[in-house]
Amino acid sequence: MNTGIGPEDKTAGQPTEDLKEILKAICRRDFGISPKLLQIAEEVEQATKTLDTQIETIVRINQLRVLQAFREVGVTEYHLKESTGYGYGDLGREGLDQIYAQVFGAESGLVRLQMVSGTHALAVALYGNLRPGDELISAVGAPYDTLAEIIGIGAGTPVPGSLRDMGVTYKEVPLREDGQPDQMALGNSISPKTKLVLIQRSSGYAWRPGLTLSTIRDLIQTVKSANPQTLVLVDNCYGEFVEAQEPGAVGADLTAGSLIKNPGGGLAPSGGYIVGAEKWVQAAARRLTAPGIGAHVGATLGVNRWFYQGLFLAPQVVGQALKGAVFAASLFKRLGYPVQPLPEGARGDIIQGIQLNSVRALEKFCQTIQKSSPIDSMAVPVFDELPGYDHQVIMAAGTFVQGASIELSADAPLRPPYIAYLQGGLTFDHARIAILAAAQALLEE
Ligand SMILES: *Cc1c(COP(=O)(O)O)cnc(C)c1O
Repeated sequence: MNTGIGPEDKTAGQPTEDLKEILKAICRRDFGISPKLLQIAEEVEQATKTLDTQIETIVRINQLRVLQAFREVGVTEYHLKESTGYGYGDLGREGLDQIYAQVFGAESGLVRLQMVSGTHALAVALYGNLRPGDELISAVGAPYDTLAEIIGIGAGTPVPGSLRDMGVTYKEVPLREDGQPDQMALGNSISPKTKLVLIQRSSGYAWRPGLTLSTIRDLIQTVKSANPQTLVLVDNCYGEFVEAQEPGAVGADLTAGSLIKNPGGGLAPSGGYIVGAEKWVQAAARRLTAPGIGAHVGATLGVNRWFYQGLFLAPQVVGQALKGAVFAASLFKRLGYPVQPLPEGARGDIIQGIQLNSVRALEKFCQTIQKSSPIDSMAVPVFDELPGYDHQVIMAAGTFVQGASIELSADAPLRPPYIAYLQGGLTFDHARIAILAAAQALLEE
């Protein structure tokens, strides 16, 4: 066996062709990938090289923006230390708020371990800024599943404590037939009592691409020209660092998301963020804690380093996830499955939809992604009920951080035409082998 050190090291001078043979042998021996499938993989990768270059350029721009924010805020080793109790004067927490604001093109930021998920961050932004008698509009059809109970969507008595229960009215502007937002209907739906419009950047469990920032810019302009007082909140989950800008740069008043998705870079163990204009972020902070203490408290309990380091790595990690998504799209398209987005299609998020056409294939796909994970590779995911979702769902996530979907994960609601939603991947090479293993499993069915 080659030790990789000393004069017996042959790897360094070994021709690439030999290394490729070693790689093929490992793929076959440990992951059961046939030479034929590996050949197809190489062909589809050749065909998508220019897409990789585009992703790498976006990564580079975002990495520089993040680095610059760290330098301007003047992050020191002291910022990485922990606070306990009230967390008064936690420089690390305050510095991170500023960095997020700068990176996301906003005036002010609120980045907190005490926001338990993306759903919670969105709820805090909504409850903090809506009052009885206000109207909330969802601009791109039904919002993400877990927001339905927060808003109190549906006929009959609203869920106790939901926005509707507290006198906030709600309307939805459906997407057009082609899956694109209906700008005209949005403009017409806005009235003097429309306090806030919610725009979801990601596609969620829908067969359409995520919104690009240029579409988000158009939607915001439509809202502002109908009523300049109406606030726009962007649900940025899965969208961070996919493009070279963020919603704040195209006019969003508020942006919110989860730290166990893109901006946590795979290191943040929990948490959420809200960025936007000072006034609206402070209103959210008063809701998260209490009036009077707002953003001034919140012990960081040792997460500062994970939050900072995760954000620093996030552009790279999102780039890896995007390469994985493009690879999955190219490979499964080549194998004859409908995919959304297409390999070369515009991307607004890291999600790749693959239409698998049967329950059996969907289950097999998710199970093989799980089997190809670093953690819980022996677990076998199945369809089941989950709080906040109205269909049975299957979730494959062999992740270091529980449920972190910036790590390679696949999930699907139990409904035809049986679409797997694949996302994440801390490294492209992990995503690649798992996607190949899933393809191999389907070929063998
Ligand atoms: C993940 C996600 C959320 C929030 O979900 P959590 O699991 O609570 O973090 C909200 N909106 C979209 C579009 C999402 O993808």
